[in-house]
Amino acid sequence: MDFKQHIKEVADYPKEGISFKDITSLMQDGEVYKKAVDELVVYARERGAELIAGPEARGFVVGCPAAYALELGFVPVRKEGKLPRETVRVSYGLEYGTDILTMHKDSIQPGQQVVILDDLLATGGTIEATIKMIEQLGGVVAGIGFLIELDGLGGRERLEGYDVFSLIRYE
Ligand code: AMP
Repeated sequence: MDFKQHIKEVADYPKEGISFKDITSLMQDGEVYKKAVDELVVYARERGAELIAGPEARGFVVGCPAAYALELGFVPVRKEGKLPRETVRVSYGLEYGTDILTMHKDSIQPGQQVVILDDLLATGGTIEATIKMIEQLGGVVAGIGFLIELDGLGGRERLEGYDVFSLIRYE
């Protein structure tokens, strides 16, 4: 299936020079959304996933239905202040300033094979922070799957050494 035709590109959003890849149009078509998630399910199964993790909010859009289909647990990766119990935290660089991501401390068992799913790989900063926390908790990052990968922003290079899969690529 040609998933790319279901992504809407929005020029200069959220600011000038950014070509925003809008996945809501893909999600609105039930058949296409299911097929896209199904591909991530196949990938996660091939990688031997025992648990799915995904960063808020668009990582939930692909991660939760995939976890459900695989009958696996889903671990939310959230901005600081959103998780109610004890967390691990990593601060990571944004274009301007830094942000903090957190995960519950008891969300991963040592040695557990974790597949991370998210909407889009750009610079890889979000996923790098997610990997750090998973590994700090003793988990093994068995693979990382995306709907969309943007080339030329260094994301894949940043995740070197990890298995990276994406359904749609943009130069
Ligand atoms: P990054 O940490 O740079 O790999 O990107 C983190 C997140 O920012 C992605 O998972 C997307 O949700 C969002 N993002 C970054 N660039 C874009 C873009 N061009 N279009 C849509 N979302 C984007």
